[in-house]
Amino acid sequence: MTEDRVYNFAAGPSTMPESVLQRARAELMNYRGTGMSVMEMSHRSPAFAEIFQDAKTKLRELLRVPDTHEILFLQGGATLQFAAIPMNLMEGAAADYAITGNFSAKAAKEAEKYGTVRIACDTADTGHNRIPAQTELRLSPDAKYFYYCANNTIYGTEWQYIPETAAPLVCDMSSDILSRPVDVSRFGLIYAGAQKNMAPAGLTVVIVDKRLAGRELPYTPQIMSYDTMIRHDSLLNTPPCWCIYMLSLELDWLKEQGGVEGMEQLKKARAKILYDLLDESRLFRAHALPDSRSDMNVTFRTGNAELDAEFIAFAKERGLVNLKGHKVAGGMRASVYNAMPIEGVEALAACMKEFEQKHV
Ligand SMILES: *Cc1c(COP(=O)(O)O)cnc(C)c1O
Repeated sequence: MTEDRVYNFAAGPSTMPESVLQRARAELMNYRGTGMSVMEMSHRSPAFAEIFQDAKTKLRELLRVPDTHEILFLQGGATLQFAAIPMNLMEGAAADYAITGNFSAKAAKEAEKYGTVRIACDTADTGHNRIPAQTELRLSPDAKYFYYCANNTIYGTEWQYIPETAAPLVCDMSSDILSRPVDVSRFGLIYAGAQKNMAPAGLTVVIVDKRLAGRELPYTPQIMSYDTMIRHDSLLNTPPCWCIYMLSLELDWLKEQGGVEGMEQLKKARAKILYDLLDESRLFRAHALPDSRSDMNVTFRTGNAELDAEFIAFAKERGLVNLKGHKVAGGMRASVYNAMPIEGVEALAACMKEFEQKHV
């Protein structure tokens, strides 16, 4: 880490690999001899077309996206997909929603406008500290899809299995995409806001089984129609060019780190340091139950809100920033996404131990 940078544990937008930022800086004024910045380029220019196709190809390779599925680069954040999914896939009928946190609850609420939402499970009763087992899921025979959120960014839980359902799986992977291998062929649709694990804010990646396209409600806006966006290769209108460029740079970095397998090793190593510490700590305790813990967002607390605030300030003085938990969950949250180096987690662990020694 260079001298003037901090370890940034923000949940999103979040830390990016330093080498990616440096490359963007080097190419900022004159992108590879074009005499202009990517920010200034026409989205129809040959230079940008190459960036766009490159990013798509790299993502397809890294995630091993089969030919049955299309990759879309969209805008509107993950939140726009809360509406786009039911508009495109629900056919005014019904869908099953697994509620394991804040974002799946929001997605379900939005979907109610377009059809019948059936709650397959809801972990609100235990403060969303766990992921339900397959046997707990209530599946409806007429569901057009089964919706879940792979990693609950706010509460710090993560699905350790892919649900078995007759209906196509629709999954919000905003906070754990590219952090482990996934069998994309098992999903009808995967989507992710880019600002957690792969690029700056402003880009949403949607990976959709083309066989599910073309069923949208008649009033679906063009830019929300998967069918239209597939036919235009996401270029119906101006795409978020800069974000796609940054994604492309980050995918190069990810490949150098050993791809999704490399990311999985790293994420396990990072999470182990923090959860081992939490399990032994006499001051801090983890929020999520052991078999449901997220490797990407580690949530913990002391049990005393004043002491939590003191710890957050203590860490900040040591260059470890944005550890405050989300307002609905309280406590602390260390978001340790793909780009968080192991050194950042080691520094956090050392800081937690130092604080603990002072207070117990
Ligand atoms: C951050 C987040 C969202 C919301 O993303 P926006 O891009 O701000 O709309 C949705 N789902 C998950 C899992 C998230 O982490």
